[in-house]
Amino acid sequence: MTTQSLEAEAKALNDRLESLDLAGRLALVAGLEGRAVFTTSLGIEDQVITAAIGTNRLDIEVATLKTGRLFNETVALIEETEEAYDILIKRYFPEKADIEDYVAQYGMNGFYESVEARHACCGVRKLKPLARALEGVSYWITGLRRGQSGNRATTPYAEADLDRGLIKINPLADWDIETIHAHVAAEAIPVNPLHGRGYPSIGCEPCTRAIKPGEPERAGRWWWENDEKRECGLHVAEATSSIIPNASSAA
Ligand code: SF4
Repeated sequence: MTTQSLEAEAKALNDRLESLDLAGRLALVAGLEGRAVFTTSLGIEDQVITAAIGTNRLDIEVATLKTGRLFNETVALIEETEEAYDILIKRYFPEKADIEDYVAQYGMNGFYESVEARHACCGVRKLKPLARALEGVSYWITGLRRGQSGNRATTPYAEADLDRGLIKINPLADWDIETIHAHVAAEAIPVNPLHGRGYPSIGCEPCTRAIKPGEPERAGRWWWENDEKRECGLHVAEATSSIIPNASSAA
């Protein structure tokens, strides 16, 4: 698909998704031609989407990146969620050789030492497995919300990911955190117990801390870095292609 046609389809989809509820948005994407994959980190937003996919038996694959550094609570929630909704969550792992190379160059926890070392770790533990998860995929569904950070304040319902050659769908773009919590309670959706201990955003264990009252939702992610726009590269195209040279062609 050309850049122009990808952008045109994303714009048309964005307009169609706007007036639908969550189940309607996901059903629309499930009915499109081409594979749709939802990547979950098992965070509260992602649990809302997984529940909607499972409850409505939608033809959307669910995948997660098992980085090797996740919290035990997150790992346990993968199986709990599969059982709750009778679905398969496909695990994608880093390559052993990549981890060995990383540890040899930077050390196991080298990500604390520099932004470059941190991006390299996210590259091998997240971005390369993500590229495999998105191979041949037309629609990539995520749990991004506008309220999560200033960096995500303009998140659309659908956008062209030109580097990966697909359309990214963000069906919770307009949901606020209060709506998320109310929905989870009403639907008895299983969530990570860490959310109740001050972790609104949960990533790898060594790179996530609880936040203090009044801090932004993602302040506990890579908290030692002095950059308000810090991300792991999953949702920042420029970062992706600079961290993983072949990431754009892999999808
Ligand atoms: S979040 Fe931390 S441990 Fe996880 S991949 Fe990125 S740098 Fe590595």
